[in-house]
Amino acid sequence: MEKKKLETRLIHGEYDRKKHYGSLTPPLYQTSTFTFDSAEQGEARFAGIESGYIYSRLGNPTVAILEKAIADLEEGEEGVAFASGMAAVSSILLALVKHGEHILVSEGVYGCTYGFLQLVDDRYGIEHDFIEMSDEDTIRNRIKPNTKVLYVETPINPTMKLIDLKMVIRVAKESGVTVVVDNTFCSPYLQQPLTLGADVVIHSATKYICGHGDVIAGLAVGKAAFMQVVRGTTLKDMGGVMAPFDAWLLLRGLKTLSVRMDRHCSNAKGLYEKLKMHPMIKSVVYPGDPDYTQFTLAEKQMKQPGGLITFEIEGGKEEAQSFMNHLKMVQVAVSLGDAESLIQHPATMTHAVVPSEKRLEMGITEGMLRLSVGLENVEDIWEDLSQALQKTASEFTPSK
Ligand SMILES: *Cc1c(COP(=O)(O)O)cnc(C)c1O
Repeated sequence: MEKKKLETRLIHGEYDRKKHYGSLTPPLYQTSTFTFDSAEQGEARFAGIESGYIYSRLGNPTVAILEKAIADLEEGEEGVAFASGMAAVSSILLALVKHGEHILVSEGVYGCTYGFLQLVDDRYGIEHDFIEMSDEDTIRNRIKPNTKVLYVETPINPTMKLIDLKMVIRVAKESGVTVVVDNTFCSPYLQQPLTLGADVVIHSATKYICGHGDVIAGLAVGKAAFMQVVRGTTLKDMGGVMAPFDAWLLLRGLKTLSVRMDRHCSNAKGLYEKLKMHPMIKSVVYPGDPDYTQFTLAEKQMKQPGGLITFEIEGGKEEAQSFMNHLKMVQVAVSLGDAESLIQHPATMTHAVVPSEKRLEMGITEGMLRLSVGLENVEDIWEDLSQALQKTASEFTPSK
C-alpha cells in the first residue's frame, strides 16, 4: 500500500481500530500489570517465547501505539517512549557509550543535557567536548579514536544557529561515529534527521509534539536492534518510562501537529518583521528571515523556519524584565511549542547556570528574549508585544 502523506499519517497513523473494538481514538490502558492465563503463559512471556504484555514498565499497549506513530513520522524503524525529554537523552546516551569513551557535542545544547554530560564526565568517566560544528575540518579534527557519538541540536536554543545535518552526518560516518539529533525544536513535521542518515532522533515530546502544555514526555527513534537494547537496559532498568495517560494525551496532540505547526510558523513569520523594524529592538534572529546568515541552510534543511523567534531589546536585563512584566497575554514561562505564546529571558532563566562569560561567547546577551510564538491571532500577539515595548520605552529615558 502506498504510504500516505505526513498530515494524514498524523491522524490515521499506525493505530489499528479493528484490534480495539473499532474505537475511533486509541484506548487508554491505564494499568500497571497484565494477567497471565496460566503460570506457564507467564513463564513463556518472561522467556520471550510468547509475545505479550507483562508489566507496564516493560511495555504498555497505549504507549506502544504512540511509539509506532513516532517511528513512522520520523521514518525510522522503532520508537521508544520516555518519561521526559531528559529521560530520552540520558537513556539513549548511556546505551551508546561507556566509561572511557567520548561524545562530541554541538556548542549550545539544552541546559539539562549540558548538566547530564557534565555529570557522567565527572562521575563515570564518559568524556565530551563541545565544538562549533560549522565546518567539516573542525569536526574531523575533533573526532578522537574513542569518540562514539556525535550529538547535535539544530536550531540551537536560544541563538537559533543551525547545523548542517547532511554535512555533519557525512563527516561522522567517515569514522563510524553514531549521530544523535535532538529534533525537539522542529518536530518531525519540519525536519526528519533519520532521512538524512542520522542514527537516532530524540524529542522532548513536552514541546511541539504535545502542543498543549500538559505533559512532560520524551521520544526517541532509531534502528530496531539498538532501540531493543535501550528498551532492555537503560529504559527498563533506570525506569524513565512514559505513563499510559501521557501517551494517550500525546496521541491526541499528534493529530493536530501539522495544523499547529503551520500556524506557529505563519504567526512567527508575521511577527519577526514587525519586531525587526521596531526602534526598541536591537536584533532579531529567525531562520525564515532572508537577512539571516543561515537562511539558505534553513530553506534547505527545514520545511518551514519554525515557531521560535529570538530578539534583543535595546538596553539589557532591566529593559528585558520590564518588557516581560508589561505583557498582558503573552505568558512569561520557559518551555515552548504550546498554544499559548510564551516568552523567557535566557540569561536569567534557561541559561542562568551558564557562566556569564561563556554565555556571551555563545551570543546570549542580557537583553535577549526567546519567544515561542503561540496559536493566537497574530495581530493580538503583536498588539501585546508592541504595547509592552511602548511602555518599556517610556520607562527608560531615551539614552540611545
Ligand atoms: C525541553 C527540552 C529538552 C528536555 O525535555 P524535558 O521533556 O523537559 O525533559 C531537551 N532538549 C530540548 C531541545 C528541549 O527543548
